[in-house]
Amino acid sequence: MKTLDLRSLSADELHAWALQQDAIDPLRKFRSQFFIPEQNGTPLTYFCGNSLGLQPKTARTAVEQELTTWQQHGVEGWFEGEKPWLSYHRYCQQALGQVVGALAEEVCPMNHLTVNLHLMLVSFYQPTPQRYKILTIAGDFPSDQYALETHLKFRGYDPAEALIEVAPREGEYTIRLEDLLEAIETHANDLALVCMSGLNYYTGQVFDMQTITAKAHSLGINVGFDLAHAAGNIPMQLHDWGVDFAVWCSYKYLNSGPGGVSGVFVHQKHHSSNLVRLAGWWGYEENRRFEMTKGFVPMEGAAGWQLSTPNIMALAVHRASLAIFEEATMPLIRQKSEALTGLLAEIIRRLNESGTKIEVMTPTDPSQRGSQLSLLIEGKGKAVFDYLVENGVIGDWREPNCIRLTPAPLYNTFEEVWRTGEMLRAVI
Ligand SMILES: *Cc1c(COP(=O)(O)O)cnc(C)c1O
Repeated sequence: MKTLDLRSLSADELHAWALQQDAIDPLRKFRSQFFIPEQNGTPLTYFCGNSLGLQPKTARTAVEQELTTWQQHGVEGWFEGEKPWLSYHRYCQQALGQVVGALAEEVCPMNHLTVNLHLMLVSFYQPTPQRYKILTIAGDFPSDQYALETHLKFRGYDPAEALIEVAPREGEYTIRLEDLLEAIETHANDLALVCMSGLNYYTGQVFDMQTITAKAHSLGINVGFDLAHAAGNIPMQLHDWGVDFAVWCSYKYLNSGPGGVSGVFVHQKHHSSNLVRLAGWWGYEENRRFEMTKGFVPMEGAAGWQLSTPNIMALAVHRASLAIFEEATMPLIRQKSEALTGLLAEIIRRLNESGTKIEVMTPTDPSQRGSQLSLLIEGKGKAVFDYLVENGVIGDWREPNCIRLTPAPLYNTFEEVWRTGEMLRAVI
């Protein structure tokens, strides 16, 4: 599955190459494990997995299994049935760790994303009178902006002064690594934390998390990433990179359903430290939780940050979806992702060569992007987007003129990318 030399192929050869990739795709069997929404009996080309991933067919069975346990055991479902609910997070940890490159005990599904971001800030943002600032990227996802802004206010700081935002250079869409590293260096004496998305939701830019982490750590600064658009999309090695914490949601590339359970990573090196945390009974030492005694004793690892009785139905869907990732494996997902997005990029390059004007915000270097291209079509963006929708291609529209297309390796095909290219040619 090589992306190289696509430029040298004729249009017919490129088409043939795309069809051949589908034929030899090691992940091809997974498409039939998802429900693909239809329009007039034809499957839609669903390029919106960055917003809400499609439903694995096993999700319903997984939920039904827990409904049956509830039906047959009532409250004893916490201890009985095929998968006792009490330990439900454990059924997800191994697979989740593989998705983000972490040990099983470093990750735990819990709560929702923005809630978890606040919980992690409680533990990892420890300002001192000298070092109290947080460095982030400008224009990050709104919820992250609001979380950082209000969290700083809650701690008694003025976000206008305590929040440092690194922006793209004039005339550029993406942020240069060198600018991020330089900003960390420049503000090192004031910084308590670097906290930013690992993959920008709007441009699709992947940040070099390893280098950013190493830089911040060399200056004594904690680092946390929001991986909402990275988890299940790009391979990561959070443990080896030494990242302090990370949070993500499971309803985007992780296909775990609308409002599905979020995930948290806390590096092993922090597990036995006395970090401040906001606690609840579900983070309490599991064997003694029902002794209901005074004084919080956390569970070992990321699970010790849980607060509340988990939503078992959401966890059931998550478990079902993670089983697919475990089988498909991140390296193969990544390989196909690069090729799919590479094909889309090549098609757009050709369209531009023949006179159209589609600006691609996403980096051209495959290592700096995941399964996504963000396209700017001056003046005609909305019309093009509507045409795609009418013709069964579901992308994602951002005002004022951005179309995001995200071919997901588990259920999208090379042929779908090819056909979308033909539609773009027809409409522009
Ligand atoms: C999707 C997304 C969110 C959404 O947060 P929720 O708390 O799950 O609603 C937050 N941050 C980023 C970066 C996202 O991509």
